[in-house]
Amino acid sequence: MDKELLALLVCPLCQGKLKYDRDQAELRCHFDGLAYPIRDDIPVMLEEEARVMSVDEKLNKPTLQDSGLSKGQEAGIHKPSA
Ligand SMILES: [Zn+2]
Repeated sequence: MDKELLALLVCPLCQGKLKYDRDQAELRCHFDGLAYPIRDDIPVMLEEEARVMSVDEKLNKPTLQDSGLSKGQEAGIHKPSA
């Protein structure tokens, strides 16, 4: 993704700034809790196409830490429902 292009992109709902997640290839709006997919380097800025982020993602928590649960429990709880 082009950084200059990214800087121009805003959330279509709240016009807020988006956070680029390189690993997931998503642009995230933490205000709306939505993650917009990037397909073939093209951001899909459509609410219908956006993924609803989990609570942990909205809070921008580091993965599986500070939850107070044992490792085994964490692994089960945080698995996305298939
Ligand atoms: Zn938004």
